[in-house]
Amino acid sequence: MYSGACLCGAVQFEITGSISKIVHCHCSQCRQVQGSAFATNGIVNASDFKILSGEDMLTAYVSSAWQTKYFCQVCGSPIISKSDSKPDQVRIRLGAITSDIEERPMAHIFTTSKANWEEISGDLPQYESYEPGR
Ligand SMILES: [Zn+2]
Ligand SMILES: [Zn+2]
Repeated sequence: MYSGACLCGAVQFEITGSISKIVHCHCSQCRQVQGSAFATNGIVNASDFKILSGEDMLTAYVSSAWQTKYFCQVCGSPIISKSDSKPDQVRIRLGAITSDIEERPMAHIFTTSKANWEEISGDLPQYESYEPGR
């Protein structure tokens, strides 16, 4: 089981299952919403994701026709996003998890959208858009 929270602690959550398909996403949306070179996201079954407190502190932002991002209205921490086409899944922002996690990132994605000042290093596979199978 994993625990997580936003920066101010108003939103507390837990994950009772595993985290799959962890990727470092370098797309422009992820860069802007995180304010950094990339976002590290993974997939959790919606039934394994539980908000323990502060659900009313989450604000939704509809970032595209099919996707909504949820963040803390006090401190701005991004927590999850949900896709209309995959209601049984939640995409979790790995930085919001406060436990050590067992799973590891599998790839860098949207590398053609990376910031021109970023150099991607390491041995993980790099994909120009989504990883294969999405
Ligand atoms: Zn907060
Ligand atoms: Zn992205």
